[in-house]
Amino acid sequence: MAQAEDRPNEPVSERTPLDGVDLVLADLDGVVYTGDAAIEHAVMSLTAAGQTRRIGYLTNNASRTAASVAEHLTSLGLATAEDDVVTSPQAAIRLLADLIPAGATVLVVGGEGLTTVVEGAGFVVTRSALDQPAAVIQGFAPDVGWNDLAEASFALNDDPARPWVATNTDWTIPVARGIAPGNGTLVGAVHNAVGRLPVVAGKPEVAIFEEAVRRFGGDTPLFIGDRLDTDILGANRAGMQSVLVLTGIDGRKQVLAANAMSRPTFILGDLRELAEPYPSAVHTVDANSGDTVVTVGNASVRLAKTVVTVDRAGDRPIDLLRAATSLIWGCGLPIYGLDVAPELYS
Ligand SMILES: [Mg+2]
Repeated sequence: MAQAEDRPNEPVSERTPLDGVDLVLADLDGVVYTGDAAIEHAVMSLTAAGQTRRIGYLTNNASRTAASVAEHLTSLGLATAEDDVVTSPQAAIRLLADLIPAGATVLVVGGEGLTTVVEGAGFVVTRSALDQPAAVIQGFAPDVGWNDLAEASFALNDDPARPWVATNTDWTIPVARGIAPGNGTLVGAVHNAVGRLPVVAGKPEVAIFEEAVRRFGGDTPLFIGDRLDTDILGANRAGMQSVLVLTGIDGRKQVLAANAMSRPTFILGDLRELAEPYPSAVHTVDANSGDTVVTVGNASVRLAKTVVTVDRAGDRPIDLLRAATSLIWGCGLPIYGLDVAPELYS
């Protein structure tokens, strides 16, 4: 909204995703890096975006401290301070502080990324339910084992009113050797033993987004992520504009099928497109057939009853995808009721 008001004479199609944005918030894995290595064009594009606006980073990963994430980003060429990184433990501790008295003892399931934050907030860390903790906080660390999960279960079963906060509930976590069970899987193990669910801080819940805006102070933030079910859903819940960048987990097929709450404002092939004009989708009705035709740039797609086909592939694959998403999201029919040309998603 703010962009249109700020630049009333500029055609909508000439706007870039960054126009009018005063705070860029970026997810890390799949957006800035994969494992240790930077994703192509990410460092240069974020550096350029940061010349005139605040950049912050959000991560659900609770196993690393903000300082170690900042160090990693700096080593990739993104000069980053510890305070530029919002972790899910930081958001979780704010939730926890509203639930228990200052200085209380907290049972921690997790690693250094979590204990550092719990102690930093003035709480006392314990690993045993026998210490009568005021609450349980749970985040991923590779060395979390059955004993930790059992202590959490004892504490939560011992007092059904005892608060339980989880940093995040990602089912999986990408590591150097592949995909492994994430914090959601470990939270699920405790859930099976206690029959209740935790309060969650990380994406797609809003606490981590609110923590970022509280810290960085933007009025018109833009969130960049690579997953619809955490990043984009969370940004929508937090009322933020969002970018889905296709350098990580979710691709064409997932974005075409995205449910109404998980649809991004912008779809980018890579982060260079943050600063490029974002062409608007033009919807027309074919006078002869009555078909709906959607054009983005020089790519266009057609809906005939329930069949989605390509009229013109155009010269930018991303424009074809943008046209197809605009058509499919806008047609009012569920994706499983449509026959979509495979070239749009494969
Ligand atoms: Mg990610």
